Amino acid sequence: MLSSKLVGLIKFGVRNNIFRGFRAQPDFTKNRYQVERGFYNYLQEPHLRYFQDLLGYEERVLTNLSDLEKYNVDWFQQVRGSSAVVLKPKTTEEVSKIIVYCNQYKLALCTQGGNTGVASGAVPVFDEIILSMELMNEIIEIDENSGTVVCQAGVILEELDNALAGKGLMVPLDLGSKGSCQIGGNVATNAGGMRVMRYGNMHGNTLGLEVVKANGEVLDCLTSVRKDNSGLHLKNLFIGSEGTLGIITKVALQCSTRPKSQHVTFLGLQTFDKVLKTSKKAKHELGEILSAMEVMDSHTIKWGKEHTNLVSPLDDYPFYLLIETAGSNVEHDSIKMNEFLESALKGHYVLNGVVTGEPSKIQSIWAIRENLPQGFKDYGWCALYDLSLPVTEYFNIVDETRDYLKNHVEDVFGFGHLGDGNLHLQVLARKYDKWLADDLETFLTKRILDMRGSMSAEHGLGFLKRKYLPIVNDHPSYTLMTDLKKLLDPNRILNPYKVFP
Ligand SMILES: Cc1cc2nc3c(=O)[nH]c(=O)nc-3n(C[C@H](O)[C@H](O)[C@H](O)COP(=O)(O)OP(=O)(O)OC[C@H]3O[C@@H](n4cnc5c(N)ncnc54)[C@H](O)[C@@H]3O)c2cc1C
Repeated sequence: MLSSKLVGLIKFGVRNNIFRGFRAQPDFTKNRYQVERGFYNYLQEPHLRYFQDLLGYEERVLTNLSDLEKYNVDWFQQVRGSSAVVLKPKTTEEVSKIIVYCNQYKLALCTQGGNTGVASGAVPVFDEIILSMELMNEIIEIDENSGTVVCQAGVILEELDNALAGKGLMVPLDLGSKGSCQIGGNVATNAGGMRVMRYGNMHGNTLGLEVVKANGEVLDCLTSVRKDNSGLHLKNLFIGSEGTLGIITKVALQCSTRPKSQHVTFLGLQTFDKVLKTSKKAKHELGEILSAMEVMDSHTIKWGKEHTNLVSPLDDYPFYLLIETAGSNVEHDSIKMNEFLESALKGHYVLNGVVTGEPSKIQSIWAIRENLPQGFKDYGWCALYDLSLPVTEYFNIVDETRDYLKNHVEDVFGFGHLGDGNLHLQVLARKYDKWLADDLETFLTKRILDMRGSMSAEHGLGFLKRKYLPIVNDHPSYTLMTDLKKLLDPNRILNPYKVFP
C-alpha cells in the first residue's frame, strides 16, 4: 500500500497568511475606463431621508466615507466606484420598497453580496446606490428528509455549509471565497467552483428563488421540489443574471449528502498529454467517488513558492494535478485511491505523487490551489481570463499567450478546473496598461471564438467583460437578451453598465 509512505512526504501545507503588504486603491472606474454616466438622478437629501425612515439611521444606511470604502472597491482591486450610500435591508418587503422608490426617482442600484466576484459586477461604476444583502442572512428551513434548504440570499456559503454539516448534508458548491461569498451572489453569478464535475453549478442545484423585480413586485418561485414542469422555468432567468434583472432575496437549494470519507492526491507530471491521460484514467478507475480535478502549470507553482507562502509537497514538475475523491466508506475509497496512484506511477503516467486522507493535510493541499488568486491579486495588475474550451486545447492557449506577450508582462499562468474544462488564464503585470489589456483581449477572443469556447466560464461578464455579450452570442440571442432586460427593467436601474453593453 502506498499511502503510509507517501503521506510521510507531505510537508505541512501552505502557511496561513499570504496577505502581503499594502496596495494603493485602484483608479476610479469612470477615469480608468472612460465610461459615460447614464441619465440617472443624483442622490439627494430627501432620498436619503426616505431610506433612513425605512431602515433606521446608522447601521443600515451607511454614508461615512470610511464605511463606504470597502463596498466601492472590488475584491481584485480592478474597479472602484464612488457611491455615497450603502443600504442594508433585512426583509424582502424592505428590498421591494427600496426598488419601488429608486424606480420612481430613477436612482441606479448596484446589488452587492459578499463582493468576492471577479467580473467587476458587484461594485458601482459611478455613484449607484449599493444594496448590500449582508443582513439578509437567515437560514429559514433545512429539510433533512428531502435534502433541501431554504435561506435568505445574504447567507454566507461557508456558514450555510456548516449549518448543513450537522444534518449530514452539504452545499454542493465549493469556492475559494466560501468564507465571504453569499448564496444570493452564487446564484446571481451561476457560480461553479471545484466540484462542478461531480455536482454541477448553481443552475443544477437551485430549486427555487424569490426575486424582487425592478417595479418592486415579488416573484415567488421559491419551490423546494425537484420536479416542476408547470410552466416556464422563470427562476432560471435570474441565475447568472448578475443583478441586472432582479434582486434575489431567498433561495431554495438541493443539498448533497456529506461524504464520510475524503482523499486527495497531488501529482507531478511531465507533459500536458500525460495530464489528459491521467485525468481519463482517474475518471475510469475512481468512477463514482471522483469529486474534483484541478490542474496547475509549473509557472503557477513556482510563482506561488517565490511570492507567497505556498509550500508544495512535491519538487518541481512541468504540471501538477490535484485529484479528490469523496465517498461513504473510508477503507473502500482509500484502497481505490492508492491503487490508482500506484498504477499511475507504475505506468509512467505521473512522475511523483502524494496521497492523504487526513483532514488537515487535505486542507493543506487544497490551500495550494485555493490561495493562488489572493497571491496574484496582491502582486500588481493581473488580468484573469475565465475560459471554457476543449481540454485538448487547454495549455496550447497558455503557451500561445505567453509567446504573444513575450517581454510585455511578468508572466502568464495556467490553472483551473480541468474536470469541467474551465481554464483560468492569468496574466500578471506590474501595473495596468490599456494597450496590453485591449490587445490581449482581441487575441484571446479570436482564439476562443474559433474553438467555440466561452470567454466567461463561471465568473460572469460584470463591467469589464460586458463587451463580449454581442460578440460571443449570435444576433437573435443577443436581441432576445436585451429585450428581456427592457421588459424586466425598463428604466435600467438594476446594476447599470454591467453585462449589457
Ligand atoms: C479567492 C476566490 C476564489 C474564487 N473561486 C471561484 C470559483 O472557483 N468559481 C466561481 O464560480 N467563482 C469563484 N470566485 C468568484 C466569486 O466568489 C463568485 O462569483 C461568487 O459566486 C460571488 O458571490 P458574492 O456573494 O461575493 O457576490 P458579489 O461579488 O457580491 O456579486 C457578484 C454579482 O452578483 C450580483 N448579486 C450579488 N448578490 C445578489 C443578489 N442577492 N441578487 C441579485 N444579484 C446579486 C452582483 O450585483 C454582482 O453582479 C472566487 C473569488 C475569489 C475571491
